[in-house]
Amino acid sequence: MVRITLVQGDITAEKADAVVNAANSSLLGGGGVDGAIHRRGGPEILAACEDLRRSHYGKGLPTGRAVATTAGRLPAEHVIHTVGPVYQVSGSDPSLLASCYRESLRVADELGARTVAFPAISTGAYGWPMEDAARIAVEAVRGAETSVEEVRFVLYDEQAYQVFAEQLGPSEAE
Ligand code: ADP
Repeated sequence: MVRITLVQGDITAEKADAVVNAANSSLLGGGGVDGAIHRRGGPEILAACEDLRRSHYGKGLPTGRAVATTAGRLPAEHVIHTVGPVYQVSGSDPSLLASCYRESLRVADELGARTVAFPAISTGAYGWPMEDAARIAVEAVRGAETSVEEVRFVLYDEQAYQVFAEQLGPSEAE
């Protein structure tokens, strides 16, 4: 079973085989994690995303899907871009958020990645409440069939870290 670990900090500093980007469907950059990854990773990542738009993803990457690029100057080997669903008070589909984690792990398997760092997808600009997003994230990772050995959730602030720690329970939180 995949081992889940928690870190508080900036995902762009993670030395993992792959770091996951909370991208938007344009793949051409944005705020939050996306902005930080492109800033610190340099122009090579954007160039790879532009290639993807010209080739397989002319209309953009659909919500819940994932695709890999170079990590440019980041300490990670690869970036896996996934598009979380926007939270809607009127009702949001948790399976789309779970799909981001599953699809990212599937892409990680294709890359041969053993350690994968995830941010809390959809919990920033896309507005998903942290408690609910953490539950969905942890369940999706625990339920995934993958050769990835370690999934590291990288939480930007103390509060998000605590929410994930509670979700994980005392046996796994470090
Ligand atoms: P989304 O559009 O999917 O909501 P965001 O990037 O806006 O994505 O936010 C997702 C989560 O990532 C939020 O909880 C935000 O606080 C956090 N975050 C923002 N910057 C970073 C970073 N550099 N490293 C890790 N987490 C980050």
